[in-house]
Amino acid sequence: MHARFAGAALAVLLGTVVAPAAARQAGTTRPAAEKAAPAVPQTFDWWRAAGVPSTTPWGQPIDVASTERIRSWTTMPEYTNPLVDHLPDHPTVVSPTDHFGDPVGKPGILHKVDEIYGYFEALAASSPRVQFRLLGETEEGNHLALAIVGSEANLAKLEAVKAGLNKLADPRGTSEAEAKRLIAELPAIYTLYGGLHSTETGAPEMLMELAYRLAVSDDPMIRAIRDDVIVFIVPVAEPDGRNRVVDWHRRYNADAYTMEDRVPGPPYWGKYIFHDNNRDGLQLSARLTQELVNLFLEWKYPVGHDLHESVPYLYVSTGTGPYNPAIDPIAVSEWQWLSNFEVTALTALGMPGVWTHGFYDGWYPGYLLWVTNTRNAVGRFYETFGNSVPNTMKRTVGPQTQVEWYRPNPPRRETLWSLRNNINYQQTGVLHALYLVAQNRERVLEQYWTKASNALRKGRTEAPFAYVVPVDQPRKADAAYMLNLLRRQGIEVHRATADAKYGEVEVRKGDYVVRMDQPYRNFILTLMDVQKFPQDAPTPYDDVAWTFPLFFNLTVQPVDDAAVQRLAMEPVTSEVAIPGMVRTERGRTAYWVVEPAASAHSIAARYALKDVRVEAAEAEIRVGGRTIPPGAWILDASQVSAERVREWAGAYGVAVTGVPAAALEGVARHDLNLPRIAILHTWRSTQDEGWVRYTLDHLGIPYTYIGEDRLKEGRLRDRFDVILFPHQSGSAKAIFQGIDPKYSPMPYTRTPEFPTHGFPDATDDMTGGMGYEGLAALRDFIHAGGTFLALGSTSAFATEFGLVRDVSTTSHPGLFVPGSILKGMAEQPRHPILYGYDATIPLYHRFGPYLSVPDALKGNVLVRYAPANELLMSGLVKNPGALAGQPAVVSVPVGRGHVVLFGFNPLHRHQSHGNFAMVWNALMNWDDLDVGLGAAQPETAVAAGAH
Ligand SMILES: [Zn+2]
Repeated sequence: MHARFAGAALAVLLGTVVAPAAARQAGTTRPAAEKAAPAVPQTFDWWRAAGVPSTTPWGQPIDVASTERIRSWTTMPEYTNPLVDHLPDHPTVVSPTDHFGDPVGKPGILHKVDEIYGYFEALAASSPRVQFRLLGETEEGNHLALAIVGSEANLAKLEAVKAGLNKLADPRGTSEAEAKRLIAELPAIYTLYGGLHSTETGAPEMLMELAYRLAVSDDPMIRAIRDDVIVFIVPVAEPDGRNRVVDWHRRYNADAYTMEDRVPGPPYWGKYIFHDNNRDGLQLSARLTQELVNLFLEWKYPVGHDLHESVPYLYVSTGTGPYNPAIDPIAVSEWQWLSNFEVTALTALGMPGVWTHGFYDGWYPGYLLWVTNTRNAVGRFYETFGNSVPNTMKRTVGPQTQVEWYRPNPPRRETLWSLRNNINYQQTGVLHALYLVAQNRERVLEQYWTKASNALRKGRTEAPFAYVVPVDQPRKADAAYMLNLLRRQGIEVHRATADAKYGEVEVRKGDYVVRMDQPYRNFILTLMDVQKFPQDAPTPYDDVAWTFPLFFNLTVQPVDDAAVQRLAMEPVTSEVAIPGMVRTERGRTAYWVVEPAASAHSIAARYALKDVRVEAAEAEIRVGGRTIPPGAWILDASQVSAERVREWAGAYGVAVTGVPAAALEGVARHDLNLPRIAILHTWRSTQDEGWVRYTLDHLGIPYTYIGEDRLKEGRLRDRFDVILFPHQSGSAKAIFQGIDPKYSPMPYTRTPEFPTHGFPDATDDMTGGMGYEGLAALRDFIHAGGTFLALGSTSAFATEFGLVRDVSTTSHPGLFVPGSILKGMAEQPRHPILYGYDATIPLYHRFGPYLSVPDALKGNVLVRYAPANELLMSGLVKNPGALAGQPAVVSVPVGRGHVVLFGFNPLHRHQSHGNFAMVWNALMNWDDLDVGLGAAQPETAVAAGAH
């Protein structure tokens, strides 16, 4: 396989190719005197002595000029190999050089989405081995796209391949004999995703060259791939973010030649979701996740592979474990099998720093690559070393220079690293993975079939045999949302057409049934079951719990009797809706009484009646012999017709009773007047606030999105009633200080050169944080009667920077809660924030902050954590005694306003739906938060503001 570089070196001029930052916006550029020449060379000539031959060993012409440039951008000979160190020449098929004028991997060059798609279109137009199609649009109207590369024969039968893989994926309708025939005949499909994480910039570049090489190369290894594998390429999984990052590099980093010179940013990738676009696989919020899940569900390809960038030089996923126990052991072994081949093969090619195992665990199933793992296919990923900025830089490597059993040939401690090195490593690894699958095509397909068959068999023979979602439960809209989410995940849902009883579980006609005798049984199990993360495991890579019934705060009943699968039921084939109901008491209906339910959709229900006065009952109401707990909504029947109420109750799943005027005599109540909401963000971290915007937009809740600059202008109370400050990573001080002013001025504005900037918010300077002016403006807002909602870490900001007196944050040595679901206890059940909640509430919790209140404020603690022995509901808690009985939600009057502190993030990733209503209740009752407090002590706190 090794080609020897024979022949004389060709006289090709290779000067310094990187121009200074012409694109850097005037006014943002540091003074010219500070601009140094590149700190490291951008081209190299180690390859010159051997020269570049004009043909490959198998006689295919080489594009010599492109090859010389590719080698010159590779910093050392060991960072390439004969598979990718040259570009084959083809008389008619368009290469990246033909299209762009340069090969990919040129220092300083990154391509935008349209340029990348433009290349794929040219490639597809010139090669019968490539097809290119646009998929659906993102939030900002950019398309996702799919390139399909394979032999002419395989591309001619794509529809048959799709049908065949769908049959293998569902053994219910496929006989053993038919499966055998399909396994013998079908090519495998191997899907690559690039550019999910926008600052990990190499993969979308690499994938263009990979597609060309796969289409034209006569290398026997690549011919074998073409014949037995159809390669699916999603060149840019996050198109909005790709364009933003390329603009950012052109604006700020074109002349960054050291890691220290890199300007961090941009503040956004997609409209809502930043790095967490790889944490969306369970809740399917982003358009990109929806499109890529649909792509899987259409084709049911057996392998998916997500290309990331971080650790040196190439990490091939397997993970350390603990592995998600719902996954078929074959898949776990397939991770090891594929990765060990890549590590071995690249090590044998002389490439150092290729390793597996010691990074990531394999527990949480919401990564994009788990779209496959959760559905009996194989999902894997790479982390390739990258500078993010396309310039060549000196890099120093930390702990990964250690030799380990899983890293036999570690990276160098110091090296020059280029975009081209990154492309060489990724491409070589991918080609080997494709080759292994090609050589073992039948094995891979047979194992796919076996995994699906195993899942089905377990679903038929192991409890639970089904999960029942009763229609009769308080949060009907949330139950419908969860069932529809399961359906969007490709999970089948049924509806009982008869009553039955299995042990303690009663099924009523009309209830929903999620049967386990279906191919994605393992996925259902991990979504519905409680997670038990091992106590002695290393620190997990992400959340350790996601149990849907707890996250949604719903009644979902597992059934341990196999007879449930013989219950009369019909498949659900359209959107699930669980309507509420309206009844009337005797007498003329004067009011509609709506039972409080703490639904994730309650605020949308309120906005649907925004033209109507809605009041909340502050005490219990007796209606028709039943007692409705505090928080019932009261609508005046003269304002809302019976017809409108029925339609509304149908849409939002609420229970409404028409009562005569006498029924509400003497019931204290207050207006649920809708506030003017501001969502406050910093420029240093938009990750978690993006999810908050997503959730509010999804529910149709209007708000104003403000940054630190608007905050500093003050007079906030004139414009807003509530300021909601979402959780963000980092300390209170970091939140206060914001981005280091050494980068000032650092505009994020839309300009003709940088059209993707300035959205979804814009500023002339991202640096400096809110500082003292912003803090004073917040204090003034609260003292003037505003309500300040702090979620998670911003609660620590509010206490540590003195926006509330007496409440503080504390630490609990040994306490360890890495993204679990804990039991909360409603302490002040008559407080508006807890309207509709039961006595216990499942809370999402990840590492605090931990609130502490003096005895005088005990009455202001709305929710406490449960005792140690019942604290953990799903996931892991170490040292639970430290958290037992501690405050989780605190509401404190300050001046004329209120501060509400959540010691966890109730709006976590559009996932903790059962916690949403605490925030919605705080919004709808924003000026009635003194109601129902225990021993509330109005405090004077910070000196009163100016207005
Ligand atoms: Zn990544």
